[in-house]
Amino acid sequence: MKARYDIAIIGGGVIGLALARELAAQTRSLAVVDASARIPPATAAAAGMLAPSFEKDLGGGALYELSAASLRMWSSFAVSLAEETGADIDFRSDGILGVALDAAAARKLEAQCAALAKRDADAAMLTGTEARALEPALSDRVTAAMQAPEDAQVDPVKLTAALRLSVERRGAALIDDYVASAQAEAGRWRVALGAGDGFVADDIVIATGAASGWAIDGVSRPPVFPVKGEAFSVASTSAASLARVVRGPGAYICPKAGGRIVIGATEQRDRADLDVSAAGIETLRGGAVDVVPALEHCAELARWAGLRPATPDGAPILGPAGRRARPAWLALGHHRNGVLLAPASAAALAAEILGNEPDIDLSPFRPNRFG
Ligand SMILES: Cc1cc2nc3c(=O)[nH]c(=O)nc-3n(C[C@H](O)[C@H](O)[C@H](O)COP(=O)(O)OP(=O)(O)OC[C@H]3O[C@@H](n4cnc5c(N)ncnc54)[C@H](O)[C@@H]3O)c2cc1C
Repeated sequence: MKARYDIAIIGGGVIGLALARELAAQTRSLAVVDASARIPPATAAAAGMLAPSFEKDLGGGALYELSAASLRMWSSFAVSLAEETGADIDFRSDGILGVALDAAAARKLEAQCAALAKRDADAAMLTGTEARALEPALSDRVTAAMQAPEDAQVDPVKLTAALRLSVERRGAALIDDYVASAQAEAGRWRVALGAGDGFVADDIVIATGAASGWAIDGVSRPPVFPVKGEAFSVASTSAASLARVVRGPGAYICPKAGGRIVIGATEQRDRADLDVSAAGIETLRGGAVDVVPALEHCAELARWAGLRPATPDGAPILGPAGRRARPAWLALGHHRNGVLLAPASAAALAAEILGNEPDIDLSPFRPNRFG
């Protein structure tokens, strides 16, 4: 660890790392301080769907635009990361299928499909028979489906490893420690680490996910709260095999490399523990079996929980906070779409931090919108 860095990023989840990757290419000295041994990142719990087409608030405008822009960036982001690191992050752009088991759910998908059409997004309604032609493992109970051919998925754990490698190769320091506080001092930041030592940085970025146990001089606590999510994985069988992500009314089902299938996820607001409840997993299993009956016979591999960093309006918090002369930058609150949003949030915020005009308008996501 050096005594001084140009920029220090606090938090090494997908948001902090994607931002570090952008900045490291253009900064002389950069550090990422990450406490994942003490505070598990939401990123490690994520399913990795890149699915703007299935968000409820398509009408909201700015968040959908950011999500769609990020999805467009994902292919080249994945290719350049793979070229740079040699890592396989299991990026798959084979689309996502949302399925309905009754008329009410089919009407919801039709409304979503119509809303997407208004935004010129690619989506189409299928009959149950057409959906089963694509995915033979689907239940006969599936009556209709919406296919979003441009939605995609990635493996968030492999992605994290590849981002860490890329950030290091670009010359940044990865410091496994906890930031207790940062004090403004002579136009810079004195960053204090849990281990007792610290360093000075010209700029700091707070990308701590749902965790809020830090004190940053002049920065009031942003309104980020945890939304706990439980999920589990099973070993696929040939009868349960899927070519793409399937989203049912009670669970989503994500086929991953090596015959693993991830099934998620519960949503519990303001729960900050990582306990996994049997009831939560059984509810998800029931929802998944309704859609793909053969999943009933698939052996469970693992179960886990993570804390989504949510905000009151569901949108991320991106931009400067605190004193005008020496603000701290916030990159928080990506809620249930942080993996999807990482390329766009990182590119836009990195441009601003470096004093450039971002390609994406970040004004709807400013920290001061909450007063
Ligand atoms: C079950 C589940 C399923 C999900 N599925 C998807 C999905 O399919 N697609 C999608 O796009 N998103 C999904 N998400 C959401 C996604 O995981 C999050 O939006 C994203 O991971 C947030 O990334 P982050 O970097 O902001 O936070 P995190 O990943 O939580 O990282 C924050 C990091 O900051 C560190 N930290 C905290 N405080 C300090 C400190 N004081 N000092 C140093 N380090 C600190 C932590 O240790 C952690 O490593 C899901 C989430 C859950 C829980």
